[in-house]
This record gives sequence, structure tokens and C-alpha cells, in this order.
Amino acid sequence: MDIKTVGVIGAGQMGNGIAHVFALAGYSVRLHDNSPEALDKAMGLIEMNMDRQVARSKITQEERDRALALIGLEPEIATIGQTDLVIEAATEREALKHEIFKALVPHLAEHTILTSNTSSISITRLASGTDRPERFMGLHFMNPVPIMQLVELIRGIATDEDTYQALRGVVDRLGKTHASAEDFPAFIVNRILMPMINEAIYTLYEGVGSVLSIDTSLKLGANHPMGPLELADFIGLDTCLAIMNVLHDGLADTKYRPCPLLVKYVEAGWLGRKSDRGFYDYRGELPVPTR
Ligand code: NAD
Repeated sequence: MDIKTVGVIGAGQMGNGIAHVFALAGYSVRLHDNSPEALDKAMGLIEMNMDRQVARSKITQEERDRALALIGLEPEIATIGQTDLVIEAATEREALKHEIFKALVPHLAEHTILTSNTSSISITRLASGTDRPERFMGLHFMNPVPIMQLVELIRGIATDEDTYQALRGVVDRLGKTHASAEDFPAFIVNRILMPMINEAIYTLYEGVGSVLSIDTSLKLGANHPMGPLELADFIGLDTCLAIMNVLHDGLADTKYRPCPLLVKYVEAGWLGRKSDRGFYDYRGELPVPTR
């Protein structure tokens, strides 16, 4: 199937990155968010990030201009339904994602493929709430989307081969690499990554180390490019907690119990970089550890 137009729902960190890479690959992109401010902010960020790529000679000025002209902002979800491929990238909450698909389904074109960028939620369950489980898949990009090479492809129980092949083609055209995962809680990347981040938060909670000593240990002792707490702030602590809850509920094993300190940070609204405070405080010139 020939995919030319792409609808992105949710214009947060992931949605704006997804719109960015699809537009650069020549797709026509309609970007929707139920918050007008989020839409405005996303467009500003996409421009800024493309300008940075021009300055670093990763793309030309003409490629930037062409890509930006391919992105349209859509305050109404209905218009997203007429695209060839929809990528849902709203907040990591299952009930919210079901509501979004319910609102979208009446407006869908017959051939539209539906996908979710969820980090952890069952693709089979999300698909079952739509009118086309056979044309529904998990299309999981990594953050930041323009830089990270991997896209996880997750088939639900009903996903057909044509849909899978169409999305493999899309990942190829984006110049990225796919890895296929079965539909189990948090798939591959977050099944492995998130318990490590949660363990780092327990290490902090139990006083084994400070924010700095934990991050320095993993960077210099395990050769990780970012420390686990720095990475948690980058992902968003609300998203980390949501993924741990999906692992805990879905696999029913206490080893996935979210650390109470993570819960407390989320309850405080300290969500990491996106709210200017998490395990580090980003309001000054340099990040300052909060513990
Ligand atoms: P975010 O908080 O930055 O953005 C979420 C966006 O969804 C916000 O702009 C919000 O206004 C919008 N939204 C909420 N309800 C909506 C609705 N009803 N209709 C339309 N838009 C709505 O979150 P994010 O980090 O971009 O995560 C989005 C999705 O991507 C989640 O499913 C998350 O698990 C997944 N994901 C996140 C990362 C990461 O590192 N942050 C990586 C891969 C996948």
C-alpha cells in the first residue's frame, strides 16, 4: 500500500519528533493535539530542531523548507481520519488512548492503517476498541525521534501481514531500523530499560547513592551515554511510572513494583525535563540534582 499522508495525534515530545522525521522523508503530515498550546509549541520546536540540523549540515535549507511546508496543524481530530497512516502519540494512559481511537474511528477512510506509539500498553487491547484490528499495529519510536535509529514494530494478535509489511516499508523510507517485538507488556526496549531505571530510583530511595553518584556510576562504570536518572527525566517521569504500572499489572510480578519515590515525584508534578524539574532541577543554567 502506498502511504503518502500521515496523521499524528499528540504533539508532545514524541509527536513533534515523529512529525519532524516523516516530513523530512517527504510525507504530508497532519499534526493534532487537543491542547492548542501544545500544537504551537510543537511547531516552534520542529523549526528549531530542523534549524539545528541545517547548522550542522545534516540537512539543507531547501530540505528544511520543504519539510516544514509539509506539516499542517489540526485542532480537530476528524481531519486526521482521512490520512493513509495514523500514529497515536498521546499521553501514556490506556483509557485516554481508547477514547482517542473511539473519537477517530467514525472519521476514518477505509484503507487507513492505525498505529500507536505506546511504550507499553497492549496493542491487541487498543486494536480491539477499533473497527480494524487487522490494520492496527504498534509503531514505537525512541526519544529523540530525529536522532534515535530504532523503531519497534509490534503486531497485535489480529494484525495482518500487509499492514506489517507496509510499516516495515515506512521504517525503511525514514532511514531507520526496525526490531519486531511480540505484544507483551512494554515490548523489548522498555521491558529491559524501565526496570533498570526503576532500580536506580530504588537505589536513590534507599540512600545507597545520591543522584550524581548513581548517574556517574552507570556512565563511567557501565559506559552508558546517560545516567539512569538523567534518562528518566528525559523520558518523563509520568511516562516511566505509567510503563512500570503496565509491567506490574500485566506480568503480576512484584519485581516490577514502581518505586514509591517515583510515585512521589510524579504526584509533585516533577515530571523531568518537560516540567523543568525531576531528579534534576533544570530552571537554572546547569541541571542541579534534587537529591
Ligand atoms: P508528552 O507528555 O510529551 O505529550 C503527550 C501529548 O499528548 C501532550 O501534548 C498532550 O496535550 C497530548 N494529549 C493528551 N490527551 C490528548 C487527546 N485526548 N487528544 C490529543 N492529544 C492529547 O508525552 P510523550 O513523551 O510525547 O509520550 C507520548 C507517547 O509516546 C506515550 O504513549 C509514550 O509512552 C510514548 N513514548 C514516549 C517516549 C519518551 O521517551 N518520552 C518514547 C517512546 C514512546
